[in-house]
Amino acid sequence: MCAAPSATTVAPRDTTAPRRARPRCPRCQRPQATCLCRFVTPTANQVSLLILQHPQEQHQAKGSARLLQLSLGRCRVAVGERFDAAALAGWLAEPTPSGAAHCLLLFPEAAGVIRPSAAGPTTTPAAPLPQPADIRLVLLDGTWRQARRLLSASPLLQALPRWPLPDPPPSRYAIRQAHRPEQRSTLEAACLALGALEHRAACYAPLLAAFDGWVATIAAAQRSADLTASAIVDSARPSLAA
Ligand SMILES: [Zn+2]
Repeated sequence: MCAAPSATTVAPRDTTAPRRARPRCPRCQRPQATCLCRFVTPTANQVSLLILQHPQEQHQAKGSARLLQLSLGRCRVAVGERFDAAALAGWLAEPTPSGAAHCLLLFPEAAGVIRPSAAGPTTTPAAPLPQPADIRLVLLDGTWRQARRLLSASPLLQALPRWPLPDPPPSRYAIRQAHRPEQRSTLEAACLALGALEHRAACYAPLLAAFDGWVATIAAAQRSADLTASAIVDSARPSLAA
């Protein structure tokens, strides 16, 4: 007599029970397991940085803006898909130590570009750059599509003079896919730009080195997760051995 197949019963999931959130580090707001605080490298930037961040980047585990924000002395991060014109105008106009800020948009395309030389940024007679402490660099943090959308939605941002990165070296950022080789992380782009605008790239070397350490940690965690996943698949697969 054949045994009746046994039925497997699965207890229904209680969808009304609150999901337990993973504990987060109160400082970096990352899950405790991926806390990045040990990589924070205090850096006294002269050029102030305004990061306009797309909401999808805010809790992105591989996003580098949080490490940048916690490391820089002069950095504001605002999150949104669109920004209220009055609020944005206020951030752009926030006074610098000697008065009005000269705002530049870190963006590679279109007219109004002040082309840097190999020795650092050069200024055109029509657009002389003030001393670094009076410059505010605006950086759009998101995918290229998100950044373009943010730019196209803001006449204020469109009106800013643009400043491209000076001959960037290859990206160190191996944990996220770039669409073009010259694309890089927010932290790298900011450090390269600030170093060039301030004529002191070496001041950003410690933060870039810390970034390398953080990238290596994330990559190792990814490899570990991949190995665990493949081990689970292997143990579930029937053995071919006799
Ligand atoms: Zn932390």
